[in-house]
Amino acid sequence: MAYDLSFAKDVYENAEEGHWIKMCMQCGVCAGSCPLGPHWEFSPRQLFQMIRAGKAEEVLKSESMWMCVSCYHCMVRCPRGLPITHIVHGLARFAVEKKRADKDQVTRRFAKILWENMERGGRIGEMALTTKLYMVNGIPDGVKKGMEMKDQAMSMLKSGRLKMDPLHLSRIRGHAGFKAMLKKAREIEQKKRES
Ligand code: SF4
Ligand code: SF4
Repeated sequence: MAYDLSFAKDVYENAEEGHWIKMCMQCGVCAGSCPLGPHWEFSPRQLFQMIRAGKAEEVLKSESMWMCVSCYHCMVRCPRGLPITHIVHGLARFAVEKKRADKDQVTRRFAKILWENMERGGRIGEMALTTKLYMVNGIPDGVKKGMEMKDQAMSMLKSGRLKMDPLHLSRIRGHAGFKAMLKKAREIEQKKRES
């Protein structure tokens, strides 16, 4: 059966750093270097081969690229110099753009909550972030988790390592400039996608 190259072409042209996948020689060093390898459904090597083989659904629906913790072990060891960490994150984002990624995937959900929190104040508001994460599976579960962690929270508050700002009202200096910078970055991204 002939390979369908349309998916590979799409990834090469539209996924972040996707063009590098052509350079992979399937040596498996990345798979052997990844500390989370045993927990991945597909290693980076396998993902790259599946992309070449046109297995779009299997790749885009996979949880594998959401498992990367950016340790860079694979990247420093790849004999072909592929920016594997960036490619893997790029594939996760590509799956979101293609509307194939599971909305409830935990890494995706965490990344979204973290980003929204950071964008709101210009820096992470730990108390609001923790509260939102605790509540992700419902209020009773969130309250239970909060009670379990109350001693640690109190001790962090006392030592000044946690700020009492449950609604995340604090803002960095120059917050308007920060928002303008993000707006510009989004416009640039959008233009790139349309070109
Ligand atoms: S280490 Fe590099 S060349 Fe080897 S399989 Fe992984 S990505 Fe491909
Ligand atoms: S950067 Fe990601 S893919 Fe590479 S070795 Fe670390 S966890 Fe695995």
